[in-house]
Amino acid sequence: MTEKTGPEVYLTIMRKVIAIDGPSGSGKSTICRLLAEKLGFQYLDTGALYRAVALHLRKNNVTDGNNDPEIKDALNGVSVSFRNGLVFLGDEDVSDAIRTTEAGHYASVFSARKAVRDFLMQTQRDSALQNDIVAEGRDMTTVVFPSAWRKFYLDASEESRARRRYLQLQEKGMAITMEEALKDVRERDLRDSQRDIAPLKRADDAIYIDTTLIGLDEVMATIISFL
Ligand code: C5P
Repeated sequence: MTEKTGPEVYLTIMRKVIAIDGPSGSGKSTICRLLAEKLGFQYLDTGALYRAVALHLRKNNVTDGNNDPEIKDALNGVSVSFRNGLVFLGDEDVSDAIRTTEAGHYASVFSARKAVRDFLMQTQRDSALQNDIVAEGRDMTTVVFPSAWRKFYLDASEESRARRRYLQLQEKGMAITMEEALKDVRERDLRDSQRDIAPLKRADDAIYIDTTLIGLDEVMATIISFL
């Protein structure tokens, strides 16, 4: 029997996937959540998966200095899941803990590692087996769902992405300055787009939307016009 791993097999059994990539603060999360709600699709926030895995690795004193077999070992038996809109690491609700800038930093560091990307691949693809999904991340359009039904790449100026990140964290009651937000998006985007495995990049067949100067409604309307 064929093992269900490669995109070629998934292509035949996957439901509809709207894949959306882009750098941090480009507005992906808000748009994807709303879009999923509007269409009755499931929302797949893959950044949350990477953040939860990073949290687990840090809790177990794994650093970037550990090699891939050691990282793989540390992830053995770990489960990351979504339940009722919350993110669980095993049985622990980590929905808030994963949202700090520190968790984002480590998510970016560890997501460059093959052991981590391999670990999360199946979970991400499996989510498209039962439901139509809106999947957001850095490699949805290029690696995880290369044959997605629709593909988009959201972008925005660095300044406006930093401002969004700043406002999001402020809203959650986390102390952050505009300078720190700018440093966070700069560092992560550089690392995410320059890594060897599954770097952030625009797929040739992804529709490009610059969200710098347009509001939520217009971004939604643009996406919907392509469905
Ligand atoms: O989207 P979010 O900011 O929550 O993602 C946190 C980090 O997880 C990103 O900076 C990136 O390094 C990593 N990530 C990734 N691939 C994805 C989603 C997130 O490498 N598909």
